Amino acid sequence: MTIVLDKDRGIESELEERIGLECPYCGVFAHMSPQAFPDAAAVFRDKPKHVGLVYQCDACHAPVFLRFAVREYSENRVELFRNFVELERPKERFAFSYLPEHTEVLFREALSCYSANNFNAFASMCRRAAKGSFEALGEGGKLRAFEEVMVAQEIAGINDDTFAPIKNVLFGTGQYEDLPLLNRAQAGILLEVLKDMFYQCFVRHGKLSRAIKVRRFFVSENSGKRQSA
Ligand SMILES: [Zn+2]
Repeated sequence: MTIVLDKDRGIESELEERIGLECPYCGVFAHMSPQAFPDAAAVFRDKPKHVGLVYQCDACHAPVFLRFAVREYSENRVELFRNFVELERPKERFAFSYLPEHTEVLFREALSCYSANNFNAFASMCRRAAKGSFEALGEGGKLRAFEEVMVAQEIAGINDDTFAPIKNVLFGTGQYEDLPLLNRAQAGILLEVLKDMFYQCFVRHGKLSRAIKVRRFFVSENSGKRQSA
C-alpha cells in the first residue's frame, strides 16, 4: 500500500485502509481511522520532507499523530513512505509506589527513555535504577536480585548469548561507557526482566504485607465487636 496526496483530490483512497496501532491514550491495540490531513496546496508549495497526519483511535476516539517521510514529489502527487513515526508512544506502566524512592525516580526516567525509543539511554538508566535498588535491598541485595533474574531467564527460556548483554547492563561493574549497545529487541527483554526483578524484590513484598495487614485489621475488628456484644 502506498499513501498518495493528490493536488486536486487530496489523500487518495488507499489511505482509507486503516492502520493498526497500540493507542498511546487507551493502550488498546486498535484500528486508527484517518481524521485530518494537511492542505494539499500548502504541501505542494512548501515541499516539506515530512508530512503529519492525524488518525483517530477506534477504541477511545483520541487523536493520534503520525509523521510520514515523503518518498517523492511529482507534478500532481506526493507519495509518502508507508513507515511512520508515532509522535506519542504508549507509556509503560508499573506499580511505582512500591519501589524505594531513588529507584522509583530512576526507573520512571528509564521507562520514559524506552517509550521514546531511546534504547541505550534506557539501558543506562536501568543500570542506575538497578544499582540503587541493590543498595536499598541491603546486604546480599544484589545477589538476591541476581537470583530472581536467573529464574526469569529460565522461565522465559532465553539463551545465554541473548541474555549476556541484559545481565551486563543490570549487574556489570564496569564504567557506564562500557555498557553494551542494545537494539529494540534486547531493550524489550531488559524492560520485562527488570520489571520482573523489581516486582519480585519490592512489589510482591509490599503488596503481600499490605494485604496481610488488612486481613489482621479486620480479624481484630471483628473479635473486638464480638467481645463488646
Ligand atoms: Zn485509544
